[in-house]
Amino acid sequence: MTILRNLSIPLLIVTCTVGLIWWAFPEGLSTARTMGIVLGWAGCGLLLASLLLMLRETWLAQWLGGLERMYQWHHWAGTTAYVLLLAHPLVLAADVWPNSRLLAWQTLSPFSQGWPIWAGLLSLLLLMFGLAATFIMRIPYQIWRMLHFGLGVGVLLGLVHLVLLGISEPVLPILGLAVSFLGWRLIRDDFGLAARPYVVGSVKPVAEDIVEITLKPLADPTAITPGQFVLVAFLGPTFRDCGEFHPFTVSSIGANHEICIAVKALGDCTRHIQSVEPDTMVRVHGAFGTFLADRPPTPQLWVAGGIGIIPFLALLRAGPVNQPTTFLYLYRTEVDAAFLQELRALANGDQQLSLKALATGDEAPDFNSLLSDTQGLAHYECYLCGPPGMVAALRKDLHNRGVTPHQIHFEKFDFR
Ligand SMILES: Cc1cc2nc3c(=O)[nH]c(=O)nc-3n(C[C@H](O)[C@H](O)[C@H](O)COP(=O)(O)OP(=O)(O)OC[C@H]3O[C@@H](n4cnc5c(N)ncnc54)[C@H](O)[C@@H]3O)c2cc1C
Repeated sequence: MTILRNLSIPLLIVTCTVGLIWWAFPEGLSTARTMGIVLGWAGCGLLLASLLLMLRETWLAQWLGGLERMYQWHHWAGTTAYVLLLAHPLVLAADVWPNSRLLAWQTLSPFSQGWPIWAGLLSLLLLMFGLAATFIMRIPYQIWRMLHFGLGVGVLLGLVHLVLLGISEPVLPILGLAVSFLGWRLIRDDFGLAARPYVVGSVKPVAEDIVEITLKPLADPTAITPGQFVLVAFLGPTFRDCGEFHPFTVSSIGANHEICIAVKALGDCTRHIQSVEPDTMVRVHGAFGTFLADRPPTPQLWVAGGIGIIPFLALLRAGPVNQPTTFLYLYRTEVDAAFLQELRALANGDQQLSLKALATGDEAPDFNSLLSDTQGLAHYECYLCGPPGMVAALRKDLHNRGVTPHQIHFEKFDFR
């Protein structure tokens, strides 16, 4: 089952790419021209797969091994498509270069070829800006979203470029699929058609700049297992500037399907959410995430940094652990230590759970000394959730202690 899940996305990408090349393979042309055209179709196939991989549907995420995995492949497929599409006109120009440099230039020039080439060039430009933004994490989220929207327009323009060149097979079916995937993402995910209505029940401060919010379902509740996250949009006039969906891990699941999320003020919207009032309407989409799912019955190391405590808290609130578990909870200062008392009480009542909680200040934690009394770490499954710096340092440290990459599982709190 795991093998099938691991292979699902590569198979999808290969099917889209090879299928399209096979369908539209040009016959009777020179090798270079054939290659130029094949590069274009391969780019189209990758873009199509990349569009499918940005859909936020729980069933799709389950098939494809989780939303985070889908996003990683979405980025990879988009970037590779861009490189291939950039090479496509260059190889076509190179084909005629030995016979006529003027013809080579005219192949690339929108001034001699008109609208089809303008559409192709504009498409490449939009793809370039959108992709560049994907890899600059410091760019504000709203600007990133705008550039990413432009990327979608770029894909459509690329296909319009082919229609203007008079190629209808297989362009029209691809255009239909691309429009469906983009529309699906916009209407079901971004406008929230796939989400369910909830209402804020209570809001409780649990540490400095962190509130825990109870959400009550107003219709069929979302199915969630401990450790998963949901996408939540707060509605109403006060949330007009940040009403988009934000990912939050569910901190507990009540018997009557109430759920709790804990929100740390990490930016404008999450700061605004700190003062949300009971009875505010929200929409909840999900649940997603496989971070703590399918854990083997071997000893485990859990490391949480700051708000990264939430998936572990959800699991412990759902019941005792089933295997020896060393749990390291790191926070900056005592006022940041959300849920510490509750965690201590849970650990006291659970023989298998050993909790170490530590205020690290602004210093990077010294994992060598923190893990010095954990014997046989190389046989542990390790689960990490916290700031990217902490996760990166710890992965390196664990690796040096003989823990293999497939024993290390981590949840990113900053995917885009
Ligand atoms: C799987 C996952 C689980 C998370 N669980 C929690 C949790 O339990 N509690 C908690 O406090 N935080 C959690 N976060 C982080 C939380 O989603 C961000 O802090 C929040 O979206 C920041 O929004 P902002 O506008 O306040 O901040 P900004 O300053 O605008 O953004 C800070 C960063 O958050 C990310 N971000 C912003 N808006 C969005 C969005 N709409 N969708 C996706 N990412 C966005 C971007 O990477 C951005 O760079 C989780 C994130 C992920 C990916």
